[in-house]
Amino acid sequence: MKKISSIPKVDKVLSLPAIRLLLETYPRPTVLTAVRNVLATLRGDSQDGRLATALDEEQLCGLIAGELEKIIAPTLHPVVNGSGVVIHTNLGRSLLAESACRQMLEVARRYSNLEMDMATGERGERYVHVEALLCELTGAEAALVVNNNAAAVLLCLSGIAAGKEVVVSRGELVEIGGSFRIPDVMRLSGGILKEVGTTNRTHLKDYQGAICPETALLLKVHTSNFSVVGFTAEVSVEQLVRCGREAGLPVMADIGSGSLLDLSKYGITGETPVQEYLKVGVDIITCSGDKMLGGPQAGIILGTKEIIARLRKNQLLRALRIDKLTLAALEATLRLYRDEREAVAEIPTLRMLTLQPAALKAKAQSLIRRLRPKLPASVRLTVVAGNSQVGGGSLPLLDLPTYLMAIEAAGWSPQKIDEAFRGLKTPVLGRINKGQYLLDLRTLQDADFPALVEAMGVLS
Ligand SMILES: *Cc1c(COP(=O)(O)O)cnc(C)c1O
Repeated sequence: MKKISSIPKVDKVLSLPAIRLLLETYPRPTVLTAVRNVLATLRGDSQDGRLATALDEEQLCGLIAGELEKIIAPTLHPVVNGSGVVIHTNLGRSLLAESACRQMLEVARRYSNLEMDMATGERGERYVHVEALLCELTGAEAALVVNNNAAAVLLCLSGIAAGKEVVVSRGELVEIGGSFRIPDVMRLSGGILKEVGTTNRTHLKDYQGAICPETALLLKVHTSNFSVVGFTAEVSVEQLVRCGREAGLPVMADIGSGSLLDLSKYGITGETPVQEYLKVGVDIITCSGDKMLGGPQAGIILGTKEIIARLRKNQLLRALRIDKLTLAALEATLRLYRDEREAVAEIPTLRMLTLQPAALKAKAQSLIRRLRPKLPASVRLTVVAGNSQVGGGSLPLLDLPTYLMAIEAAGWSPQKIDEAFRGLKTPVLGRINKGQYLLDLRTLQDADFPALVEAMGVLS
């Protein structure tokens, strides 16, 4: 093959037989982009004197074909989550139940009764498709759903407290994932933040002392992703509700994760189910749809008829509204909660969170057995014990006992394995602990098997 001594012109590359073949299959502008990208990379390489000196035409065409493949592939694609973080915000949080996926497809492909009351033939509201179900499951009087929990908090603050004061403990002025910060959301909503107490201790008298004619709301925020330990004091939800009643003010709780089940019998303690907040009389609750609930990205608002009716009239609702695919997935997910056993078996987030160590160990052994015949000789797989995390800013201190697959390969450091796995077409994300590269069986899926086989292949 002819070696390339200098960067060729685009026209010359386009006339190479292998590239002419690509032009027969793919649109010209797309091939052109691939050629330009590769040449630009080579030019960059050559500046520091590293022009792949021995590059021949065949290799150049190979690079272009590879680049083309990258350009035409979707940039949003599946990833193998071997991190053990179940609700991994950067990997899309919750996986949807099969019935939720089916329902979403059904509504995507066909027209639906999204906003039409078929009994009267008149315009209806999209929210009816989940409101009754949410009320049935939680005991709430009324419900509303929006784009996400950040939107839910914004809508509530705007609807209840615009131009008025909202009392919040200094220990609860949280930041979630860098872009949701209580003081900032408050400012956006038009509410006026009235901080009370200190970072580590807030007392009932602090709230009582802050209430004035300008007060519209008492707000409690779940400190989802951190914990203050040591000399601490907080006012319980019950106390805050009593305080609100005495002052004639509504009490709101942003509970973050929003668990509909008591999962303590599976070893998942520390998350108060939504129903408990309503039982003690909280007037308005907001939570996420895609954290512990295990549904699609959504913000769920539960509360009194009067407050929900007010929120429905708020202009912001139109901008924050939930789309029909999400609504379909949310409805199907919520339906599963009518039977707790079904919910735990069918909702991937709950299924993964409640997996017990013995089952995880068996999964690890079975995976290794299936991978073994396909392994390069240099690769060694072993089962090790460790811990998984709930993630999604939920229960940051809770360790879930798990089993992991440790991967060792001759000549490969854990860091090198990690880098190679992340570069695959279906990237594999694991974690490194004490010099070992690990994949947690809790978050691996059956569908990940082919990608894992491919990953092992690069370690030869
Ligand atoms: C996660 C979380 C949010 C943000 O929820 P999104 O659904 O991601 O918008 C808000 N408040 C609390 C307490 C949270 O834990």
